[in-house]
Amino acid sequence: IIHLDNIKKNYYLGKQVIEVLKGISFDILKNEYVALMGPSGSGKSTLMNILGCLDTPTSGTYILNGHDVSSMADNDLADVRNKEIGFVFQQFNLLPRLTAAENVALPLVYAGVPRKQRMEKALEVLSRVNLADRSHHKPNEMSGGQNQRVAIARALVNDPSIILADEPTGNLDSKTSHEIMEIFSKIHAGGNTVILVTHEVDIAEFAHRIVRLKDGIIESDVRKEQLLVK
Ligand code: ATP
Ligand code: MG
Repeated sequence: IIHLDNIKKNYYLGKQVIEVLKGISFDILKNEYVALMGPSGSGKSTLMNILGCLDTPTSGTYILNGHDVSSMADNDLADVRNKEIGFVFQQFNLLPRLTAAENVALPLVYAGVPRKQRMEKALEVLSRVNLADRSHHKPNEMSGGQNQRVAIARALVNDPSIILADEPTGNLDSKTSHEIMEIFSKIHAGGNTVILVTHEVDIAEFAHRIVRLKDGIIESDVRKEQLLVK
């Protein structure tokens, strides 16, 4: 579903060139469950933003579900992103004045879905994250774990094939983190491809494959045995 070939990413600050990704190649198959690890500054978020079609590489090829997205124009890239990708951030990125249901439905506003259908779909995905009873709450009326579940529901609302999450438990205590990870496991079991960044080994344990980045290259890429067995 994802094919990366020699992806490089430079940032340019004035005359300074910062080489962040120095040639990343891998494939991710449909319905894999991948944890991306590595030291701070190794390029994890940069890679996730490219995988999520929020940014494009400086060079290299990225094929997503048969589309070559590495050199697409911004509006085409946005179309692919809206269709294929659900993105979850560490800081939830919810709009404070909207209710949970309205936040979840927001991507459907941009897609032109009528209000009644938007709200039905929002309630359906909120119940998938066990939050149907908080649909009228605003972000400041919910806990961190509940807000992250709202953000996950928002990522699911377009029925994307791939869920990307950059440190989704980074702001949560360990009990809440495990509850969030159970939701990602459920999403994975439902057929989605899941890729998440984490610093915590016990969080990475939920995944079936662990990719480690270091200084912009892949240091290791390990699949769990049970995945090889079937
Ligand atoms: P962390 O674990 O701290 O989140 P990370 O692995 O996600 O780290 P990135 O955010 O991908 O790291 O950043 C990798 C490097 O790229 C860092 O040295 C950072 O300073 C640099 N960088 C990231 N974004 C930009 C930008 N927009 N402009 C310039 N440099 C950037
Ligand atoms: Mg990061």
